[in-house]
Amino acid sequence: MKIIRSDYILTPDTLLEGQAVAFDTAIREIAPLDTLKSRYPDAEVTELPERSLLMPGLINPHIHLEFSGNRTTLRYGAFLPWLHSVIANREELINNCSLECMKAATQMMLRSGITTFGAVSSHGMDLEAAAEAPQNVVFFNEVIGSQAAMADALYGDFLQRLSASEAVTRPGFIPAIAVHSPYSVHPALIRRAVALAAERGLPLSAHFMESPEERQWLDANAGEFKPFFNDFLKQTSAVNTAGEFLALFDGHPTLMTHVVHANDGELRHLAQGGHTVIHCPISNRLLGNGAIDLDALERHGINWVCGTDGLSSNYRLDLFEEMKIALFMHSETPLLPLARSLIESVTRRAASALGLNKGSIEAGKDADMIVLQLDHEPDEQLPLHLLLHGYPVDAVYIGGALVNG
Ligand SMILES: [Zn+2]
Repeated sequence: MKIIRSDYILTPDTLLEGQAVAFDTAIREIAPLDTLKSRYPDAEVTELPERSLLMPGLINPHIHLEFSGNRTTLRYGAFLPWLHSVIANREELINNCSLECMKAATQMMLRSGITTFGAVSSHGMDLEAAAEAPQNVVFFNEVIGSQAAMADALYGDFLQRLSASEAVTRPGFIPAIAVHSPYSVHPALIRRAVALAAERGLPLSAHFMESPEERQWLDANAGEFKPFFNDFLKQTSAVNTAGEFLALFDGHPTLMTHVVHANDGELRHLAQGGHTVIHCPISNRLLGNGAIDLDALERHGINWVCGTDGLSSNYRLDLFEEMKIALFMHSETPLLPLARSLIESVTRRAASALGLNKGSIEAGKDADMIVLQLDHEPDEQLPLHLLLHGYPVDAVYIGGALVNG
């Protein structure tokens, strides 16, 4: 047993003062230090410096580790030019991102307090980096392919990647399934992947309604996706409408990434299905996709969380930075409630969406915790200042083990 005493503990919705936490791999009890010391006399005790803040480790539900090699290669500003630049530079980006480069990405997340991440894997080249990462990992093997003729071969490749990830047995590593998007995956493939996720109880994720071009293509087989699909795949119409796509996930709560251009009916569908929206504000801005209407998600009662996306559409993998950008992007939303909601989104709400027993400092939860060094006495504006000031992350505990610091 270990005991850690911190001037402040953010649970994340309540700020406790002068308490300590007893934990092994999970949090066992929260009480004043003396109480815990007498209850667990053999425990190793850590008393944190003045103005330390203990809070749950952050959960980043959506990244693409395989594209961690990008810094200035890809073209930002609009979705299709970016997509063309990904295709043109794909080999180079992937070949330049060795195991070292992907490990650097996991370390970048660790330094900013991310103790769990959801890695969307297109090729399985990130499996080793994810398996060896210090964090908990939900490893989303992605299925992609819009042509019926290729469906069996692509599904076979996906199954091989899935089974390689199922062979990873370390604690905290969870195999999972991702469906790329409504425009890029044939409904027959989606049906099989969703049924498999249900059968094996695997978490499920997909991209949905990221760009205005996706909206136009799915609604009207028009817009900038038209020449793209004509030229690359000899395809003249979308393989799914948005409604058909969502219906394939009925009964299977899924983490839907982006959802910037969903209409009211689709938001209702997402709410009814118990799906979660992953909001990646920096990626949305860099790819010219606009700003999601978070207030509409709230009105529909949709669980939403915040994620970084990969370095193919971001300059950092840091949820504090991501939340700060969200705070400024949604400039009409009341400031302090948004800051609070963002912090809950990357802790408790993300854990619930991924089915993890984490995300709060609470007896019985996994002991994934981070220590920040504040430079002031916190008040009710703490959630806001956590986003604004980039306080140093002094220590990270994952499953009760001190990982750095
Ligand atoms: Zn993505």
